[in-house]
Amino acid sequence: MAYKDEQLNEEKVFKDPVHRYIHVKDQVIWDLIGAPEFQRLRRIKQLGTSYLTFHGAEHSRFNHSLGVYEIVRRILFNFEGRPNWNGKERLLCLCAALLHDLGHGPFSHSFEKVFKLDHEDFTKQIILGDTEINRILKRVGPDFPQDVADVINKTYADKLVVSLISSQIDADRMDYLQRDAYFTGVSYGHFDMERILRVMRPMEDQVVIKQTGMHAVEDYIMSRYQMYWQVYFHPVTRSAEVILSKILNRAKYLYQDGYQFSLKPVHFLSFFSGQVKLKEYLRLDEGIVNYYFQMWVDEQDPVLSDLCERFINRRLFKYIEFNPNHQMNEWMELFRLFQELGIDPDYYLVVDSSSDLPYDFYRPGEEEERLPIHLLMPKNGELKELSRQSEIVESISGKKRTDHKLYFPLDVLEELPEESQAKARIFEILYG
Ligand code: ZN
Repeated sequence: MAYKDEQLNEEKVFKDPVHRYIHVKDQVIWDLIGAPEFQRLRRIKQLGTSYLTFHGAEHSRFNHSLGVYEIVRRILFNFEGRPNWNGKERLLCLCAALLHDLGHGPFSHSFEKVFKLDHEDFTKQIILGDTEINRILKRVGPDFPQDVADVINKTYADKLVVSLISSQIDADRMDYLQRDAYFTGVSYGHFDMERILRVMRPMEDQVVIKQTGMHAVEDYIMSRYQMYWQVYFHPVTRSAEVILSKILNRAKYLYQDGYQFSLKPVHFLSFFSGQVKLKEYLRLDEGIVNYYFQMWVDEQDPVLSDLCERFINRRLFKYIEFNPNHQMNEWMELFRLFQELGIDPDYYLVVDSSSDLPYDFYRPGEEEERLPIHLLMPKNGELKELSRQSEIVESISGKKRTDHKLYFPLDVLEELPEESQAKARIFEILYG
């Protein structure tokens, strides 16, 4: 029997808090899960620094990847025997679902920003490069690794296959919303996925939703909206993210400046030089990053030491609403006062905007690759774009809300001597 058709003698099941069970019958899927590059995802948290805000948010990208696979498996099970679906791409869809986040590294958001990396590029490299994952996929067929990479990259010719993994209502989003809601413990993020899966229909180039399922989809869009503002953009999480980015910036700066680390950052060297090879990338996980941060608390450099201590012990920066576009003068004055007081503003006075983060609870057609959600009308089989049918969705569609905050170490400012005029002025600007 061809490898692509090989089935396990007995179905394997993973117990999962969100989907109850994750079912694996294909030998290929089982082998991929066992590959070291996939097992590595256990050591990378799905929500980065969110655990410092929501202590339950310790779940990994491994959990999420299995969840996305399971949702696609269920969608395809429902598709069986329907027009527009012949099942030939089944294994391709399952592999792309399982591997779609393979290139994520530790604390992806900060690492990508500071070192100018792109996790999607690493996903491609892992699938096509000299890895166990690549060897497994190649056994399916010589072009199979490229096909999987193309589906994840949204360049695959069959857009129906692509839309399962990336569209406005894809398996990726449906898993992370429910999973992140479950692990953070918030009451948003829940919706009736069973219902949505039952009303999904394959069309030639996309998955559409039967019109009768509109309210379940509205619920899904609203939960996405709430999760973005309540969890993903949470200002405390962003504060931790700011400190993390500054640690990476500082370590890079020190290294380039010839500073002698007492713990040499061997795992970071390629990141500092901007030439990150796949092997080095795969070696870095959150355990290793946390190890360095812990050790760097004892470094001579006061900025690196302080920032690491803040991250490890959760002594985060405080924040106020602050829009530098409208408050340029205050910003410049604060910058100068911080300098005067010897508090390096490059590290301790940070404006962060939520628009830097993925913001897409629903924007039909704004980004070329984001397919809008289409409803399938009962009588004539016509397709209608969701926000034209649903007033609820219409009211939140395409609105870009940017949220600027200024982060600073309040504890340091409070410790300044009472008679300091600079201190008085800083507090006046910050708190009025
Ligand atoms: Zn994902």
